Amino acid sequence: MNRRSFLKWANLAGLAAGLPSAPAFGAVGHEANDQASTTTPSTTKIGSPEDILLKDYRPQSIYKIPVTEIAKAKFPVIDMHTHPYAKTEQEIEAWVRNMDEVGIERAMILTMTTGAEFDEIHRKYAKYPERFETWCGFDFTGYDKAGFGPAAVQELGRCKQAGARGVGEIHDKGKGLRSGKSNALGMHPDDPRMDSLWEKCGELGMPVSLHVADPIWMYQKMDRHNDGLMNAYQWRLDNQPDVVGLSGMVEIFERTLARHRNTTFIACHFMNLDYDLARLGEVLERNPNLYADLSARYAETAPTPRFAAAFYEKHADRLVYGTDMGVDKRMYRVTFRILESLDEHFYEIEQFSYHWSLNGFGLSDAILKQVYHGNAVRLLAARRL
Ligand SMILES: [Zn+2]
Repeated sequence: MNRRSFLKWANLAGLAAGLPSAPAFGAVGHEANDQASTTTPSTTKIGSPEDILLKDYRPQSIYKIPVTEIAKAKFPVIDMHTHPYAKTEQEIEAWVRNMDEVGIERAMILTMTTGAEFDEIHRKYAKYPERFETWCGFDFTGYDKAGFGPAAVQELGRCKQAGARGVGEIHDKGKGLRSGKSNALGMHPDDPRMDSLWEKCGELGMPVSLHVADPIWMYQKMDRHNDGLMNAYQWRLDNQPDVVGLSGMVEIFERTLARHRNTTFIACHFMNLDYDLARLGEVLERNPNLYADLSARYAETAPTPRFAAAFYEKHADRLVYGTDMGVDKRMYRVTFRILESLDEHFYEIEQFSYHWSLNGFGLSDAILKQVYHGNAVRLLAARRL
């Protein structure tokens, strides 16, 4: 989840308290930093340009070039990465209306929960079986004691019976696995203790949405050379002990994929290899049981539109659309503009918190159809239900 957009939305909806915490940025144990989060420039009066801080920088494009407004996606869309943002019946209804307006046919609700908590969320969304699927989490209780496994596997089966259609979002940002509030500090996805759970997902035909690592600039030095500094100063990982690095987490993910070929995995956020798509391409080629979702990595790929578009073309059959950024119509439309248009040098600082300028990929109809819909349909249809 992209915490900033989510909190912005939640604040608007008056829901800020008691929300699940699952930031796409930010590590476990970093929650306190969120208090400092701001997407609006500080109100301190800016006297001279010398006093402008990077976090307050709000450039506006000077170029007289085409601006494309895309109110509705060109083709029907399946959103493979959302969370239970809407809490009440009215909020769920409002979300469905937004989805209708912008062209989202269906959304996967990654609840990260098990037990009564899962059942409660499932019950709310079950009113719209054609529009939402609810995916469950794992229960890591007792993961550090002998005999871990059977109870977690049993609960997974129970969630499936109760309506779960997949598993996610499971996180490992380098310190160990996490599913919502259930933590397994120090246990990574390739740990043998996880074998029975991953195997059961395959057996039950439940795809797994797995988030490893975080954006590269979080691991780099917080200095004037850091390309993501505007976000990085707040979400830093460079000062954290005992964190497996980004590359190490990619290796762990690949070992997991190799060990569990009958289980389908979806790497959230381009596996955080948005800065090195060539490597992600190699990982996809080596692992037929892997898809990658685009969620919350639009601003990270839009600065390099030609390279990104070539990547989409090469791996069009393995990429699935996702958002992870709340329920706003405007948010959906920004993603369509990046995927569909050939617009250049535009800013979406309030949406993504980067000072980078963005560009559209101008993806072909054939690629859009696959990424928006076709790949998700194939992935979801492969489930043995
Ligand atoms: Zn998420």
